[in-house]
Amino acid sequence: MRAEIVAIGSELVSGQGLDTNSQWLSRALEAHGIPVAFHTTIGDQLDDHVSTFRIAAGRAELVIMTGGLGPTQDDLTREALAATAQVSLREDPGSLEAIRRMFARRNRPMADRNKVQALFPQGAEPLPNRVGTAPGIWMELGPTTFACLPGIPSEMKVMFHEHVLPRLRRRGWINRSIIERKINLFGRGESDIEADALDLTARGRVPEVGITAHDATISLRIRGEGANEEEALRQTEATAALIHQRFGSMVLGEGAIDVSEAVVAQLERTRATLATAESCTGGLIAHLITAIAGVSPFYLGGVVSYSNVAKATLLDVPSELMESYGAVSPEVAAAMARGARARLGADISISATGVAGPSGGSDEKPVGLVYLGLATAAGVQTRRLDIGPEQPRDIIQRRSAKIALNWVRLTLRSWPDRTP
Ligand code: ATP
Ligand code: MG
Repeated sequence: MRAEIVAIGSELVSGQGLDTNSQWLSRALEAHGIPVAFHTTIGDQLDDHVSTFRIAAGRAELVIMTGGLGPTQDDLTREALAATAQVSLREDPGSLEAIRRMFARRNRPMADRNKVQALFPQGAEPLPNRVGTAPGIWMELGPTTFACLPGIPSEMKVMFHEHVLPRLRRRGWINRSIIERKINLFGRGESDIEADALDLTARGRVPEVGITAHDATISLRIRGEGANEEEALRQTEATAALIHQRFGSMVLGEGAIDVSEAVVAQLERTRATLATAESCTGGLIAHLITAIAGVSPFYLGGVVSYSNVAKATLLDVPSELMESYGAVSPEVAAAMARGARARLGADISISATGVAGPSGGSDEKPVGLVYLGLATAAGVQTRRLDIGPEQPRDIIQRRSAKIALNWVRLTLRSWPDRTP
């Protein structure tokens, strides 16, 4: 059993667009135990389509194609598939109706040429597209099965999960389950975590554990394999428990959970209210928090106090403090946190003041130096971060915002559960 992926689009062969669909599809197929033997990329030429489809039919049992399903002249997938199979195109009333409804829902008139998207080679099965207009095509051609999906990555992914995977299962092509559990950690560098996880990431270990980093969040990925999903999951359990035990409070959670989600979960658990006071992060902490739905009962608000005037008038930071220690100082970070907490009446507040660069650094206060302040009823604490003068401005901002939120998370962890 071998699969081939065909990516269609002149923008891909010309280099204007990058073919990420093939990468994604290969990973998805490999994860289900189907080896991918070929990647082919072609432009919008009918002859090239037909010759490619013939070659693919001769060497792969499964061909997954993306792109060229749209309504325009250069979208040739359906026509080329019919030519390859030497059949004619027929209109599918159900698909036409679905396309009509999609336009109606978006309050847009449907152009006549959109009708071609309801045409299918004789003998092909339409694959409904819940998230776009172009339906996909499922077609058997001798011993080879063709699955044609839209080029738009988000549509392609939904359709792969909803239509391709179940059909591959029914075909018996997927007979073992592979699951990947991603446990996210925050608080130390990738190489530190890697050093502490050498036994887990060793080659040949069962189950295998991989390590990846994104925006200073480190993910340990456990790959479990079994005859079914339950068995695959069971294989990961002991390893997941070991990771939780070893990395303790650094564990944010599983899957898509990052620092913001984890801090909001702690706010929900403790019913604590949060306020923010930001200088060098310019509101990024507030943005990260408000990106999470359901935080409104717990996040009261914040101040972007970029100037000394703002720090004094909005957060009651004494001017003398700024004069004697400078705006980037533990004293000012503490006063900002105290001010935000008092002004908004929050249980906990976090502040950030630093040198985001690239200019404005000095020997004493280099670019990348950031002070955080955290105030609670118990008082105020500060922390110094040295993110590094070589780091670009956005990294310094993002890193300090995440570390600030993580500090809130770690503090709240020891607060009592007040979920109603
Ligand atoms: P549409 O109905 O939008 O025309 P389509 O199935 O015809 O869908 P294309 O027109 O080929 O798809 O591609 C639509 C867009 O999807 C492209 O402009 C590109 O941004 C993206 N896209 C297409 N193919 C790929 C690919 N292989 N990898 C990543 N992105 C892609
Ligand atoms: Mg198109």
